Amino acid sequence: MAKKVRVRFAPSPTGPLHIGGLRTALFNYLFAKKHGGDFLLRIEDTDQVRYVEGAEDYIMEALAWCGITYDEGVGKGGEHAPYRQSERKAIYAEYAQMLLDKGDAYYAFDTAEELDAQRKNYEQHGETFIYNWHNRQNLTNSFSLSPEEVKERLQRGDAYVVRFKMPQETLTLHDLIRGEVVVDTKLLDDKVLFKSDGMPTYHLANIVDDHLMEITHVIRGEEWLPSMALHVLMYRAFGWDAPQFAHLPLILKPAGMGNGKLSKRDGDKMGFPVFPLEWVDPVTKNISKGYREDGYLPEALVNFLALLGWNPGVDQELFSVEELIALFDLEKVNKAGAHFDIEKIKWFNHQYLQKMPLITLVENFSSVLAGKEISASKESLTQIVTLIRERATFLTDFWELSHFFFVAPHSYEAKAFKKQWKENSAEIVNSLIGVVDSLTDLTPAHIESQIKDFITKHNLGLGQVMPLIRLALVGEMKGPDVFSIISILGKEQTILRLQNLIQYAKEQ
Ligand code: GLU
Repeated sequence: MAKKVRVRFAPSPTGPLHIGGLRTALFNYLFAKKHGGDFLLRIEDTDQVRYVEGAEDYIMEALAWCGITYDEGVGKGGEHAPYRQSERKAIYAEYAQMLLDKGDAYYAFDTAEELDAQRKNYEQHGETFIYNWHNRQNLTNSFSLSPEEVKERLQRGDAYVVRFKMPQETLTLHDLIRGEVVVDTKLLDDKVLFKSDGMPTYHLANIVDDHLMEITHVIRGEEWLPSMALHVLMYRAFGWDAPQFAHLPLILKPAGMGNGKLSKRDGDKMGFPVFPLEWVDPVTKNISKGYREDGYLPEALVNFLALLGWNPGVDQELFSVEELIALFDLEKVNKAGAHFDIEKIKWFNHQYLQKMPLITLVENFSSVLAGKEISASKESLTQIVTLIRERATFLTDFWELSHFFFVAPHSYEAKAFKKQWKENSAEIVNSLIGVVDSLTDLTPAHIESQIKDFITKHNLGLGQVMPLIRLALVGEMKGPDVFSIISILGKEQTILRLQNLIQYAKEQ
């Protein structure tokens, strides 16, 4: 029987989760659900220096907001708990020892200053310092020191690290997205796996945990591709089966801004968030924008991210999560980076807003209005929302698109007034008041026919009449269909606003 698929999202709590990280979580989730497998959340917090207060809660809240649920992990528990690496500290020393015993790892005692001096020395010769086979016997470690000396240093409590002994070979790796990747391991360094303070580095903790948590597929960002050889070699050294790997393409800057990775700076420059939720830096108190706070719907963000680097191979763009799960296939994930596109995510948001149940939109808008101390009947709100929703991209657009229904204009856009108000305008508006007053039916169709009859009867043009009505009702040349506005405002309010315009014109 094939092994049950188990994947994990393993972020480090070093700050807010970038949307690239969110996409990694999403792809893991889709893959797990597609294969009836498990999705885990593991927090990789072994790097105490980079630990940021609140980042872990942020990650969990962001996943929850997007509906990316996990089966095991921090905040949830599970068979392989704990899922926070800082709570698993005791486990790793044993595995570092295992590699030492097998001769695949060794002790090194070089101080930071010594390594720095080496680095500088290499740089002076135009070379890069790599700690590996070619110089390890000249550095301070188990290769250059006698076993007694190593023992003595350890007993004395000298600071040390455990390094992986990188072999010298040509290694062929297989990546589910990139295919074969050939690596000359001679060019790689002897990575630090463990430190004398008892803390593992990312590499050791990651491999040990993936093994103990029975991870079958490692799906992560492209920035980890250079670590794949080391990881595969570590599995081999331990004598464990390696999981399959898939390295997702980068999310790149918007088209036209170069081919670099999308950064927070790009977002700041162009006014869009790169984080799912707003983030307040615990130290500087600087605020970074979030999609949630900017009025985006999680469904829109999820749909957008799913297609960033993955081509489902069908002529469709809007997908429910169930559809995404059914179609998801790592082999259709592109190798090349995908350019971020803020207009596209706005488009998705607009689409999802149109799909939201009318009642939800009405309730939401009603609470926005309550905050402004405006109350309106459910019936009229339903009419208003129906009329304007098509023009809204965000929930927050509703007020901007409809404020004139609730507050009569107290001024008129100067340029429009100047252009529209002619000698006979007062007379036209006056007659319109009569037309509105005699309406027997307030459906937009009836209003339209009555006003158009009036226009024809008086030999006027639409252009002489309609802009005046709009100006009177809205205050500017914007808004939905005028007949629908009259229908919602009602006779009394429409007449009042037409009178206000005449009065205003008199005062000019
Ligand atoms: N902790 C790593 C990160 O922050 C995880 C990389 C991996 O998935 O192996 O991205």
